[in-house]
Amino acid sequence: MNASLKSVEFERPASSGATCVAHAWARVPEAPSQEERAALKAKIKRLLVERDAVLVAHYYVDSDLQDLAEETGGCVADSLEMARFGRNHAAKTLVVAGVRFMGETSKILSPEKRILMPDLDATCSLDLGCPADEFAAFCDAHPDRTVVVYANTSAAVKARADWMVTSSIGLEIVAHLHAQGKKILWAPDRHLGSYVQKQTGADMLLWQGACLVHDEFKGTELGLLRREYPNAKVLVHPESPAAVVELADVVGSTSQMIAAAQTMDATEFIVATDNGILHKMRAAAPGKRFIEAPTAGNSATCKSCAHCPWMAMNSLQNLADVLETGANEIHVDPEIGRRAHTCIDRMLTFAEARKQNVRASGDFARDGALFSGVGPA
Ligand code: SF4
Repeated sequence: MNASLKSVEFERPASSGATCVAHAWARVPEAPSQEERAALKAKIKRLLVERDAVLVAHYYVDSDLQDLAEETGGCVADSLEMARFGRNHAAKTLVVAGVRFMGETSKILSPEKRILMPDLDATCSLDLGCPADEFAAFCDAHPDRTVVVYANTSAAVKARADWMVTSSIGLEIVAHLHAQGKKILWAPDRHLGSYVQKQTGADMLLWQGACLVHDEFKGTELGLLRREYPNAKVLVHPESPAAVVELADVVGSTSQMIAAAQTMDATEFIVATDNGILHKMRAAAPGKRFIEAPTAGNSATCKSCAHCPWMAMNSLQNLADVLETGANEIHVDPEIGRRAHTCIDRMLTFAEARKQNVRASGDFARDGALFSGVGPA
C-alpha cells in the first residue's frame, strides 16, 4: 500500500496531573484514482460476502467506507453502536473501520467473533494519553472514588474501571452516581469531564487527557464565525474546550449532533467535531448547509485541521487487503476482556433501564435526546 507517515503531537498526562507533549505518527494513505476506487469497492463487496463479514464504520472515516458499510448491510455509527451492531449481527467476522479502541470494544462484546481492522496502528490521543499502568497508579491513589472511563480507552484501562460511558450517556450516569453520594475519578478527556462536572455538580477528579481534534476548536474564532452566520445553529461535541461549548446551541455526541441537524428548525449549522461527520449530516439533512467550526487562531497552526489523523488511516486499499488476507486481527487478553466487559455491561444495563423508564412515562422526545446511539438493542 502506498502511504506516507505524518508526525502527530499530542498531550501526554501523568498520574501527577502534569502533562507533556508527546509524539506519535499516522500513516496517510494515498488517494486512489477513480478506476482504482471503483475496482476496490467491487472487490470489497465481493469479499464481504465470501468471508461472511460485515463492515462497521465510524462517522469520522472516509466517506467511501461509510457508504460501503451502508450499501452492504453494515452500519455507520458512534463507537458503542458499532460494537452493539457487530455483537448482534450474524456474521462471523466484523471489519471495524475506526481506531483501535473500537476494535477492542467490539472484541470484548463479541469474543467469539473474528475482528479485523484496516490498520491496527490507528489509535487515539485519548487512548495514548492514558497508559494503563499510570492510570492504575492514579486509581490506587484515590481508592475512595468510583472510576468512570470514557469509551476512548484501551481494554486494560476499562478493566480497571467501575463504569464505562459514552458521550451520549456520561451525564446521566455521573448524575446517577452523584445522587448516590459517590465521588468520581474520571478519565481520560478533561474537557468532557469538566462539562459533565459543571452539569451535574458531582465531585470529579479528572485525568488531563484531550482529543487532538476537538481540543483545537477555538472559542474566539467560533464567536466571530457565528456573527457571519447569525441564523446558524452551533452543534458542539463535548470533547471541545469550555469556551467552544459555551457558544453551542446543542452539545451532544456524534449521533445526537446528527439528530439535531435533522430535526432542528434551521438551514445552517456550524459543526464543532471531526469533519468526517459532515458526509452523514448532509445525507441525513439534505438541503441544509454545514460549516466547519474554526480550529486555529490567527497565528496558530492546526495539528488535525478538524480531521483525526488516525481515522484517516482507514482506506479502501487496506480494507480490501485485510478482507483478502485475514491480517490485522484484534486480540484482547481474555481476563482483561472479562473485566472490561463488566464496566461496559454496567452502562448498557443502566441505559436500558433508563430507556424503559422514559418510555413508560411516554416522553419520547426525551428518550430520543438521551439515548440516541446508546443502550442495548
Ligand atoms: S477524533 Fe479524537 S477522540 Fe476520536 S479517535 Fe481521533 S483523537 Fe481519538
